[in-house]
Amino acid sequence: MNRKPPLPTLPFAGEEEKKSMQGYTLTLKGTREVADGTRLFIFDKPEGYIFQAGQYVALTLPKLVAPDPKGPVRSFSIASSPFESEMHFAMRRGMSGFKQTFWQMQPGDTITITKAVGFFTVPKGDLRPVVFLVGGIGITPVRSILKQAAHEGSTRDFTLLYSNRFLKDAAFCEEIKPLPLPHFRCITVLSQSDEVCQPINDERGYICVPMITKYIDDIPGKLYYLVGSLPFVEAMEKMLIDLGVPKEQRYKDPFTGLRGVDQK
Ligand SMILES: Cc1cc2nc3c(=O)[nH]c(=O)nc-3n(C[C@H](O)[C@H](O)[C@H](O)COP(=O)(O)OP(=O)(O)OC[C@H]3O[C@@H](n4cnc5c(N)ncnc54)[C@H](O)[C@@H]3O)c2cc1C
Repeated sequence: MNRKPPLPTLPFAGEEEKKSMQGYTLTLKGTREVADGTRLFIFDKPEGYIFQAGQYVALTLPKLVAPDPKGPVRSFSIASSPFESEMHFAMRRGMSGFKQTFWQMQPGDTITITKAVGFFTVPKGDLRPVVFLVGGIGITPVRSILKQAAHEGSTRDFTLLYSNRFLKDAAFCEEIKPLPLPHFRCITVLSQSDEVCQPINDERGYICVPMITKYIDDIPGKLYYLVGSLPFVEAMEKMLIDLGVPKEQRYKDPFTGLRGVDQK
């Protein structure tokens, strides 16, 4: 008799793997304005969700309130840290159907995310000082990395050059600056501001070679993390190449899809 074999029970996929293939559902707890036109979305972290500080996800909205030619899915860096019980995403307000939907979300609404991916992470075994060159909302994975480092009592040397048009655009600035990291410096770089420049850790214009040489000694001896719009990351990379920083010391996280002109 030709009996049918029982259906396989996916021996290759464990429970976690199965979940990550289906996606994880997150429920919105609340929101908070973190800069001009910039909102933080706070979700409960699903049980067993694992990620490394600096990674990103593909985020899907179940239903769009307005048409969007790009559809309901975008990449987003996780703005919270692995030690936290919440998951945070932050974004600038935009005109797309995707952003309009996000701005109308209410507590209790849900989204779906994939497992976290990406290599914009700080290696634990390599203790070289880290320099972050950040444009605008590119601060999200850096917030995750720095808060996690503070939580772990890291004594690593961190320098953040944080570029925005105006101070009002600089999300998380007041939260990041006082983090309990003994060797951490945050330099605000404002491209459009005509406010008086503070005597230390405050610059005007765009991140450039004189700024790097002013704040960073032994330039080729550090690890560099470049994040923001694609044009921003490309400009920073060119500058580092000209300064002789080898490829393996340059980590990049270009936020493709983000407007690049004003780093907003
Ligand atoms: C790995 C990764 C991580 C990311 N993390 C974040 C994050 O943490 N926060 C965040 O806000 N974004 C992040 N992004 C970008 C995000 O995925 C969206 O692409 C971005 O927020 C733009 O959203 P939107 O398409 O809804 O457009 P909107 O913000 O609504 O922009 C309006 C419109 O402008 C158009 N547009 C985009 N770029 C240009 C351009 N150069 N010139 C003219 N028009 C343009 C778009 O097509 C869009 O329709 C990340 C991207 C990647 C790849």
